Amino acid sequence: MTYTDLRLFIGGEWTSGTSGAGSDVINPATDEVLGHVPHASTADLDMALEAARSGFQLWRQKTPVERQQVLEGAAAIIEEQKEHISRILTLEMGKTLAESRGEMDFVINIIRWYGEEGKRAYGRVVPSRAAGMQQLVLKDPVGPVASFVAWNFPGVNVIRKIAAALAAGCSIVIKASEETPGTSVEIVRAFEKAGLPPGVLNLVFGIPGEVSEHLLRSPVIRKVAFTGSTAVGIHLQKLAAETMKHTTMELGGHSPSIVFDDANFDNALQSLAIQKFRNAGQICTSVGRIYVQEGLFDRFVEGFVSYAESLKVGNGLEEGVQMGPLIAKRRVHAMESIVEDALARGAELLCGGKRIGDCGSFFQPTVFRNVPEEASLMREEVFGPVVPINSFKTYDEVLEKANRLDYGLAAYAYTSDATTALRLTRDMESGMLGINSSFIAFPETPFGGIKYSGIGSEGGVEGLEAYLHTRLVTQLEI
Ligand code: NAD
Repeated sequence: MTYTDLRLFIGGEWTSGTSGAGSDVINPATDEVLGHVPHASTADLDMALEAARSGFQLWRQKTPVERQQVLEGAAAIIEEQKEHISRILTLEMGKTLAESRGEMDFVINIIRWYGEEGKRAYGRVVPSRAAGMQQLVLKDPVGPVASFVAWNFPGVNVIRKIAAALAAGCSIVIKASEETPGTSVEIVRAFEKAGLPPGVLNLVFGIPGEVSEHLLRSPVIRKVAFTGSTAVGIHLQKLAAETMKHTTMELGGHSPSIVFDDANFDNALQSLAIQKFRNAGQICTSVGRIYVQEGLFDRFVEGFVSYAESLKVGNGLEEGVQMGPLIAKRRVHAMESIVEDALARGAELLCGGKRIGDCGSFFQPTVFRNVPEEASLMREEVFGPVVPINSFKTYDEVLEKANRLDYGLAAYAYTSDATTALRLTRDMESGMLGINSSFIAFPETPFGGIKYSGIGSEGGVEGLEAYLHTRLVTQLEI
């Protein structure tokens, strides 16, 4: 099947750039080269900056209703092209076609939600202490945005940035992942076709560190939005500080997932097993480490292993496949060292533990039991289909374990006791907590982490607010 024509999009023009450099895009299920993505030169990046500067002047003048009409146009085009884009997504990223279709539905919903929410960027009038004084609080777009996003959700990671920026009235230069560029190219085409003025949305690829260094040093850019690892997030946060830019940082996690003795067993098992192996575990909010209270432990482990062993792993384009490959060989090697470390520290391997075949980047669904807290599997983000299950006795013990890492992205807990749920709501150090559910991402709710998992939220009113700044105007009647 055909892939797509990969170009940069700068100032309303599709271009191969002036550097002549680029990199291959590999299908992680077959190791085949799908295409070649051009890398932007510094001259191309300067053009993108100038385009974003002039695009912002134009776009900020549009009314929110005019902006919404363009966003709705793009959503409708993507909806029409859903099957085509879903296939491109699976080809370059590896997730199953069903998951890609679900991701594209989410993309469409996010665009529609932000388009509408842009109409509600309300300011306020604050009653004054002084007679004859009017105090207006205004919400304006922050300015041109630079964004950098990871490959694990080639549609959603990209659209959370684009839709929020455009709905708020900002222009944007986005560097999507060089490993999964096709989905972003298709999404940007939809905005072009929907009549977005030139310069408002610019798409580039390149050497990530060089692109971000160049864009972030520029005073044109007023906000940085990043989805990726904590290490890179800290680096970009420092760069942004030098020119006092706003930031939104969606970073890594290691979601503690707790099952209490009083949980609905079937719901807990199904919910966590599905959430763990979705996208082959390559989700920032994936189940990181599971703690099951002693009364349910053996039964839970047995059920979880049986689910993991039943999964059909293969090429995401094939009918019946439930889990695709990892993004690239480097992630297979990362899983091998996590497994090796856990074994060396005395953890008990219950299933999986090995790569599958030599072609593609497949790894077996892998379950460990009784893993020491010092193992890298318990401390470092796994981002793959490997999971530890440990037992616990008391609420206090498991809470201490759940909160002990620097990460604070997502957490899941299963209980039918209202008091336990209330205590978790108060005590859990995570930006998102699912109680009896692992569904925590929707267009209208905030998505983001605390502690080292990030700053700010995407989605919900908070997601729009992040692209607005606040101004005060006082006026005295004279
Ligand atoms: P990574 O930070 O190395 O890379 C993420 C993306 O950023 C890639 O596209 C990469 O090309 C780019 N990048 C790398 N260095 C950069 C730099 N100096 N400047 C600009 N861009 C740069 O992470 P990864 O391991 O490839 O991706 C997985 C990570 O992303 C995990 O930590 C995961 O938790 C995180 N993530 C977080 C969220 C969230 O919303 N919190 C969502 C998805 C993924």
